[in-house]
Amino acid sequence: MTSRLNVERLRSEGDRFMQELSREYYAAHSGLKASAELQPVYEKYRDILGPDALAAAREFFDGSAEGSEERRSARLLLDWQVESQSSRELAALDEREIAWEGEAMVTTADGRRIPFQRVAIEQGNSTDRNERAALEAARSALVQRELAPMRRERFQRERDITEALDLASGYNATWEVLSGISLTALRDECAAFLRDTQAMWDEVLPAALKRVLGIRREEATRADALALFRAREFDRYFPAADMEPAILRQVREMGIDPLANGRIRLDTGEREGKRSRAFCAPVKVPDEVYLVLRPHGGQTDWNTFLHELGHALHFAYMRPDLPMEFRWLGDNSVTEGYAMLFDHLMQDAGWLQRYTGLDKQATPAFLRAAGLEELHFLRRYCAKLIYETDLYGGAVSWDALPDLYVQLLTDATGFRYDRADAFVDVDTRYYAARYLRAWQLQALLTETLVERYDADWWRNPRAGPWIAQALFGEAQRELAHEQAERVAKRPMGFAPLIRGIERMLA
Ligand SMILES: [Zn+2]
Repeated sequence: MTSRLNVERLRSEGDRFMQELSREYYAAHSGLKASAELQPVYEKYRDILGPDALAAAREFFDGSAEGSEERRSARLLLDWQVESQSSRELAALDEREIAWEGEAMVTTADGRRIPFQRVAIEQGNSTDRNERAALEAARSALVQRELAPMRRERFQRERDITEALDLASGYNATWEVLSGISLTALRDECAAFLRDTQAMWDEVLPAALKRVLGIRREEATRADALALFRAREFDRYFPAADMEPAILRQVREMGIDPLANGRIRLDTGEREGKRSRAFCAPVKVPDEVYLVLRPHGGQTDWNTFLHELGHALHFAYMRPDLPMEFRWLGDNSVTEGYAMLFDHLMQDAGWLQRYTGLDKQATPAFLRAAGLEELHFLRRYCAKLIYETDLYGGAVSWDALPDLYVQLLTDATGFRYDRADAFVDVDTRYYAARYLRAWQLQALLTETLVERYDADWWRNPRAGPWIAQALFGEAQRELAHEQAERVAKRPMGFAPLIRGIERMLA
């Protein structure tokens, strides 16, 4: 039984490979090292990343019985192998794109030169609509000319590489086999969500555009969306110094150690080269998980910290005896769901009033702004998923995709999108599906926690141990919808999200 041996080797070396890779990313992104040295790691583990490893994973998959625990493992290992082969073949194209993004400069009509990566930030910060439009015209012209062709080529290649595996007919069917998730069903749910929330969106968007930006709906573009959701009117309620102590206190009140007995290490020091946004680096799962942050204060900072803490707690409370594929791989809708379970505490009036500077008076306005943003992001992601199924699906020609992109995204969000972004504003390998399912899982888990531990479950000392054991402990062995059925006894869907948004906008 050679394949059996190979699978054991895939697991043990795969675990060490993930650790070394993750340690490099942690060191580079936290400023401990100037750059991540990834090539030596890939070189050291080339045996478990090459065609033989893919063949072993495929043999294991083909030999496992549908619905068995073995099939569950085999599917994750095969998905991992397919992704690493495809990433290797796409590496040159991806590196070309990263280099372009690092160097590209946008030149406006009046001769201003701005780094490409700063344009969205400048647009968000600008209170002058004409300036936002001028930046947008310059940005989209550059993207259309240089970045879009590179991205289009990358997606064409990715589709070809995946289809050549001959696992199923076409990219989408292959993704469904490897992920265990139905794209068709999710796409239908997204279309229904867009229909069900259309009237609500038509009502709240024009008022917000008028109040915050002083513009009419018909003239709003994606650059205006950046400015609308960049509002900082509530930042003073979220001071930097209070963030870490307040949030850690809440996790303790929930009955678990926020640092998981030292398995979570907080890296809060100022260091040159450290990323400004908080991030979580699971270097050894579950024993060594880094939560890296540089507190700046403000609503976005608190939100990001909560999100990354959700990931960190998940990794640190995973059962150590689970095989490598359940700790490192699996349906990321699950880990993103826990991250969202924590960042959505920012939508809970009781939580906000207990742990942040927000008072009773300011809470309703804050929640209405949060509801508007939540609905916008969900509608945008639903449209993105529908579009991406067409991009990867192959039934729409590459040349016809930009017009379809503009139509779908503009209709869903009410902001005018640009053809230039049709191949740029795409999450590879359907990460949008993971986010959408995470949103659904989060909403269902919140309802379940309220049923079990009351509205203030986040400070009920019985809630934390249950979350750690019944949810985090299982790592990513289950798919998000399987977990929903197990703990909530009902299927995931958008209904609880719609209820939450209606409450916030009321
Ligand atoms: Zn996340």
